Amino acid sequence: MKMKLLIIFNLLLISSHFAISQTVQNSAAVEKVWAQYNKYKEPAITDRFMKHSEMMPLIQKHVTSKFVTKEEIGISVGDRSINHLTAGRGKMKVMLWSQMHGDESTATMALFDMFNFLGASDDNDNLRKLILDNLELHFVPMLNPDGAQAWKRRNDLEIDVNRDARMLVTPEGRALMGLAKKLQPEIGFNLHDQNYLYSSGRSKNSATISFLAPAYNYPKDMNAVRKRATQIILAMNKALQTKSRGNVAKYNDDFDPRCFGDTFQGMGISTILIESGGFYQDPEKQFIRKLNFLALLTAFESIATASYEREALKDYDLIPENDNSLYDVFVKNVTINKEGHEFKTNLGINRTQLKSADNSSMTFSGRIAELGDQELIFGYDEIDATGLKFTPAKIKTMTRAEWDKLNPQQELDLIKEGYLFVKWLNGKSPTGAIKNRLLNLTNNSENQVQAAGIGQNAEFLLTRDGKPVYAVINGYKVDLNQPAKVLSNTYGY
Ligand SMILES: [Zn+2]
Repeated sequence: MKMKLLIIFNLLLISSHFAISQTVQNSAAVEKVWAQYNKYKEPAITDRFMKHSEMMPLIQKHVTSKFVTKEEIGISVGDRSINHLTAGRGKMKVMLWSQMHGDESTATMALFDMFNFLGASDDNDNLRKLILDNLELHFVPMLNPDGAQAWKRRNDLEIDVNRDARMLVTPEGRALMGLAKKLQPEIGFNLHDQNYLYSSGRSKNSATISFLAPAYNYPKDMNAVRKRATQIILAMNKALQTKSRGNVAKYNDDFDPRCFGDTFQGMGISTILIESGGFYQDPEKQFIRKLNFLALLTAFESIATASYEREALKDYDLIPENDNSLYDVFVKNVTINKEGHEFKTNLGINRTQLKSADNSSMTFSGRIAELGDQELIFGYDEIDATGLKFTPAKIKTMTRAEWDKLNPQQELDLIKEGYLFVKWLNGKSPTGAIKNRLLNLTNNSENQVQAAGIGQNAEFLLTRDGKPVYAVINGYKVDLNQPAKVLSNTYGY
């Protein structure tokens, strides 16, 4: 026993030593800009759903101020311009392109924050001068504007632009390849978003930012080009760890010749993939946008000073890989009665994202995704349901006028009495997302969720001796001992 404790103690020492060596200070100049981020954050971009028509005036602002020069390098299938913006007067060419997948806009938001920073003049002039004197920056924000318009991954030919690096049948892919061949930059940044449920290794930490220095061949060899990309990643990783510890991961490095990153790496461009994932209670990805800004600023500084050359390649092995250990809500050890069996198990619950008709906002629909024993699985929110029973909720009937008058505290009181649904006595209630409520509406006379089952709507109570302790409402955890707080959206059934 003592021996075991000693080993554990030693392991703790080793891991804390590792933690210290990982906690490296950002340069004071980058740290100062981080502290002043709100000054540079582009105020016109408030959510992830920016469209090409909203982006163009922002580009024009930076053209007018002469911070960037603009060149149109292509027209999308849906007739929208693809723009190449240039800034800086240095020798080292760095090319960045975002939103090749239309519904992956986090980095696009960050690029406009970056333009505001680099285009300004204030007490951070030293850092900006260092960057602009040493780098020639080439940006292609929103490479797939039609995808952004419809909030979809693919372009309007239904082709995934990031599987088009060889055939080049998409005008978007041709624009990117044409620019890369013309510029022949030393370094490239391929800016994407990934599934928000990815974790950093087998852990509770979401993979908020995942990096990859893509392979350029099937054996995944390392050469000088890929090595430089890896070292720049290591510099960015250190910076991110100081702001969001544990939320960085590595993307799968299997070679795929159809992808631009892999192809560019093979063309001699040190290419870095940045994938923006999820972060707790940041569905609009505004904190993740800020982390993108930090990652890029750190990269620019380290390229400008060549400080990335000091990074040891073996540290890349210490970054955990992307994993699938996260649910939106993970309920542990809940007692379930089903088909005449009583058993204790775990429930994994996810909220599917549903885009609005105009593709400019998102609502959520919570479902039970998994039921059963699970090892090293976590939730953005977790409930220890030891001693608690899965209990179907009741339907409260009232008039529409009474529903309209309910305040959050009254809704919470009804939930504590076992109700999760309201049925109007007079007329049909709306179906679909209901904003800023705690209770759902239903037109059914019976609750459809009687037992825990895969694919069921995540609408149930967790009770002790018949008394509700927690509720899961449209896939959101609600602690009934906490003050009443409305949810992003409940549902009309
Ligand atoms: Zn992508």
